[in-house]
Amino acid sequence: MTPDEGYIKYQSHWSPGPPPDIDATRLLEKWRIPLFAAGLIGHYADLNIGFGNISIRSGAPGQFLITGTQTGHIERSTAEHYSLVTGFDIDRNEVSCNGPVQASSEAMTHAAIYALDPLIGAIVHVHSKQLWDRYLDVLPSTDNAVAYGTPEMAKEFRRLYRGSKFRSDGIAVMCGHDEGLVSVGKNLEQAACRILSLAKEQ
Ligand SMILES: [Zn+2]
Repeated sequence: MTPDEGYIKYQSHWSPGPPPDIDATRLLEKWRIPLFAAGLIGHYADLNIGFGNISIRSGAPGQFLITGTQTGHIERSTAEHYSLVTGFDIDRNEVSCNGPVQASSEAMTHAAIYALDPLIGAIVHVHSKQLWDRYLDVLPSTDNAVAYGTPEMAKEFRRLYRGSKFRSDGIAVMCGHDEGLVSVGKNLEQAACRILSLAKEQ
């Protein structure tokens, strides 16, 4: 596991504000519960670092609602734990967000994936040593040289979406990000169930 997990690597422009769309945060919490219960979102106790994050499109086109940074340890999230990403620039490595918390350290990766296809409505990023060991280079996988939270990781997802089953099956393994997997779907139910059913097969 990468010791720098969980720290924001992009330039963050955060405007503190009230909780975003309450209905949307309830939907996120609904699907976060089984992911947390399966240990796919959680907390590395030895390092005191949270992992895993989920998002759905919300607000204006291109915007999305995502779990806040360092919320992996929270068993039951509320609207206070979500942030609306209002803009991003992959090449300048900048993300703008507003809400009660700053967006997840992996918001840039989510932003880059949404930009691939308007049909992607939700993204789930989890950590699982079991799934990572089993599916690395079996399912579409990002390049080993590319670290999480960087513009290069964004470009890697573009490559996979254009040239692998990531587009049809919606799951990718992050080789350069230990234990990391990503699933996408037309909605949150589809994105979450893709990774949950993979975990159930274990
Ligand atoms: Zn991660």
